[in-house]
Amino acid sequence: MTNTATEINIPSGAADSSTPSATITFADFGLDPKIQKAVSEQGYNTPTPIQAQAIPHVLLGKDLMGAAQTGTGKTAAFVLPIIQKILRHASSSASPARHPIRALVLTPTRELAVQVAENAASYSKHTDLRAAVVYGGVDMKEQVATLRNGVEILIATPGRLLDHIGSKVANLSQVEILVLDEADRMLDMGFLPDLQRIIDLIPAQRQTLLFSATFSPEIKKLAQSYLRTPVTVEVARQNAAADTVKQVVHMVSSADKQRAIVKILEARTRQGLSRQCIIFTNSRLGCARLARALERDGIKAGAIHGDKSQGERTLTLDAFKSGAIEALVATDVAARGLDIPDMPCVINHELPFSAEDFIHRIGRTGRAGSKGDAIALVDDGEKRLLDDIEKLMKRKLEVKPLPDVKTSPGQPSDPFFYMPYESGAAPKGVDAVKTAEPEVKKVGITPAKPAVGALLGGFKKK
Ligand code: AMP
Repeated sequence: MTNTATEINIPSGAADSSTPSATITFADFGLDPKIQKAVSEQGYNTPTPIQAQAIPHVLLGKDLMGAAQTGTGKTAAFVLPIIQKILRHASSSASPARHPIRALVLTPTRELAVQVAENAASYSKHTDLRAAVVYGGVDMKEQVATLRNGVEILIATPGRLLDHIGSKVANLSQVEILVLDEADRMLDMGFLPDLQRIIDLIPAQRQTLLFSATFSPEIKKLAQSYLRTPVTVEVARQNAAADTVKQVVHMVSSADKQRAIVKILEARTRQGLSRQCIIFTNSRLGCARLARALERDGIKAGAIHGDKSQGERTLTLDAFKSGAIEALVATDVAARGLDIPDMPCVINHELPFSAEDFIHRIGRTGRAGSKGDAIALVDDGEKRLLDDIEKLMKRKLEVKPLPDVKTSPGQPSDPFFYMPYESGAAPKGVDAVKTAEPEVKKVGITPAKPAVGALLGGFKKK
């Protein structure tokens, strides 16, 4: 299939993808009152730009390519119209035959799958539609029972879905809508063969939606193969971070990075800012080590990486959401899809090898219109990675040197003492970071969500 994409003209000023769109309301979409009720219960007043742009097209049955960064509200942009479109199939019958899979959402990671499934469950809670999630790394039994009972909206990671298809528990022959969420990441993770096998099992007469933070040539190729004359919705500047994120680079040697983090957090405390932050590392080992080292420095830290079991990840994430952990040290794969609204600060302990991962990382902050700080600790050996990032983002990142002063912990003479996010006069000889206004921000960490483990077997309507 060869396709031409239709570009939507986004009105100027709508380029900030994270703030709600002022002109359109949820009522304008003509969504069923059951869906609207769920939306207002979420506390959403106005659609975000990606929602404003995407929902009408999805409702019209169009294939769609959405360039949307994490935190722009993209999940509701596809889940809400999907519920509307398959609502006609909703049935109160207990018979599994009345609940075939109508919509399939594929995601690269279990965390993102769980997140999407939570959204699908809350947006559909006033309907008779069922949502469930399946992903690898956990026992299949509960998932099998859920699938056998029947489910209209299935969120899945590709490998585990293929397992269920192989054992004839999942059948995709009645799927009407397919979503490839964070498609760029699925390709990065080598899921292309799995995707091809899955898509071959879905009727050709389907609607396909593809979401990706970036539109790389590989993504465009994927879209060409599987989407039909897609509409392209691109509400943020391509390959750019949300405008609400304030970015700063500090050149710090590897050996000094851990201490720099401690000082950054101390400085945030002094400023009345939240200490809650996500710290990205490139390796699982480095992630675990850094979390332990920060703990020794008196910082409440937790690690989330691929070697952790699902149960451990869930516990750590819940502790982070409740505030019991203030520094969540994470690798890219593990952090993917974590929904932590109003994350005030993201620290790159080292730069990722792929520039696109940098955009995903800093997409953890500045979400849905909130302000955030993204701090990168860069040593000399990482300058080339920094170049790649700047090329992709099409902008130079501001490099702020840490003050070159004598050491004495907590004092201006301390090499790591500096005053981020403070516009007031810096102590003499200290080059205060000027990228952020003074601001005392209360962090809106959401209360811990229902135990993620409970999601294994699908969702109960509340
Ligand atoms: P997402 O990009 O789907 O991960 O969404 C990011 C965050 O924005 C989530 O916490 C959503 O609950 C929230 N959100 C989504 N849509 C809206 C909206 N219209 N108004 C306010 N918050 C929203």
